[in-house]
Amino acid sequence: MSLFSPVELAPRDPILGLNEAFNADTRANKVNLGVGVYCNEAGKVPLLRAVQAAEEARVAEHAARAYLPIDGLAPYDLAVQKLLFGADSALLDSGRLITAQALGGTGALKLGADFLYRLTDKRTVAISNPSWENHRALFEAAGYDVVNYTYFDPATNGLNLDGMLADLDALPEGSVVILHACCHNPTGVDLSLADWAKVIDVVGRRQLVPFLDIAYQGFGENLEDDAVAVRLFAESGLPFLVASSFSKSFSLYGERVGALTMVTASKEETAPVLSQLKRVIRTNYSNPPTHGAKVVAAVLTNPELYAQWEDELAEMRDRIRDMRAALVEKLRAAGVEQDVSFIQRQRGMFSFSGLSKDQVARLADEFGIYAVGSGRICVAALNTSNIDAVATAMAAVMK
Ligand code: PLP
Repeated sequence: MSLFSPVELAPRDPILGLNEAFNADTRANKVNLGVGVYCNEAGKVPLLRAVQAAEEARVAEHAARAYLPIDGLAPYDLAVQKLLFGADSALLDSGRLITAQALGGTGALKLGADFLYRLTDKRTVAISNPSWENHRALFEAAGYDVVNYTYFDPATNGLNLDGMLADLDALPEGSVVILHACCHNPTGVDLSLADWAKVIDVVGRRQLVPFLDIAYQGFGENLEDDAVAVRLFAESGLPFLVASSFSKSFSLYGERVGALTMVTASKEETAPVLSQLKRVIRTNYSNPPTHGAKVVAAVLTNPELYAQWEDELAEMRDRIRDMRAALVEKLRAAGVEQDVSFIQRQRGMFSFSGLSKDQVARLADEFGIYAVGSGRICVAALNTSNIDAVATAMAAVMK
């Protein structure tokens, strides 16, 4: 027997499986709505002009590649804080903020998970039902028991706020609660300002540990409004964590640009917390990579590039909105009688379309249109060339 012979094949990643099936499909008009990336009107992952300009300037510098500090590039970390809390936030000078550059949003969540695991003996993490599929796997792998709290209401295609509050209220004290700050993945259903206030109230009263995941800032309403949950938590005075991702908003998926931010209760807590977080980083990957953070920091700290980036972000957001409106209109025109208006109310890249597993299977088999089994479709994969085929096929399986 060899060292590796007992190793069993891990279960296939459902999304990767879907991509394989899509790639093997020979139909010319096939469409992949399973992807988790923004595609432009041409169906391509864009290179943002602001990113290109920052990259060209960086290449022209011919800079040497020394190590970054363990917690990353300082101007990047500060720029992340300004995006989260607002450029005028009193928190910026409070001494209560810790930000460490991380390997994408996933890396930020993992740093937070490992840090909290060492900090307390509380082992429950609550995630929304449904949630981004990696939340469960990531926190289980970090040693936690992962439970669900009620979130999506299939009856209204909206939020079940009462169910959510009741479930949060019933969690053991000290449980970590993962909250999607905006553009909930996979449902596209977000909390209102008033809803957030109620959640913060329960979280504070039950002494839960809020961990906000913000992977789509700018894809909902705009950069400021999409940070409302982060800012309400900041106002509450509670300690909390935030995982930022710039994969989508800068279209820098492969560069792994994210950050973990922690808001402490007092500035005295900050130095010890930062020192322990650095230990987590040091023993995992030592220090983060340079390129993505340099590019993002360059865009965020240069007013011209920032304005250009905001325009490009708005372009992406508006295109998704147009696709939502067009899909609703075309479904109705194709004779769908069910109410599909919720598709237009949802925010971010995804829509929980309400399609059943069987309907999703029929879409793939009969029409070459691939969606996730849960019914999640990536609205950002729609464009004017494929939307008619998608609407016709969806209408056919919905009747
Ligand atoms: N959190 C949510 C809710 C996501 O949807 C994603 C990516 O799909 C991530 C985190 C991870 O982002 P990244 O690719 O930056 O690791």
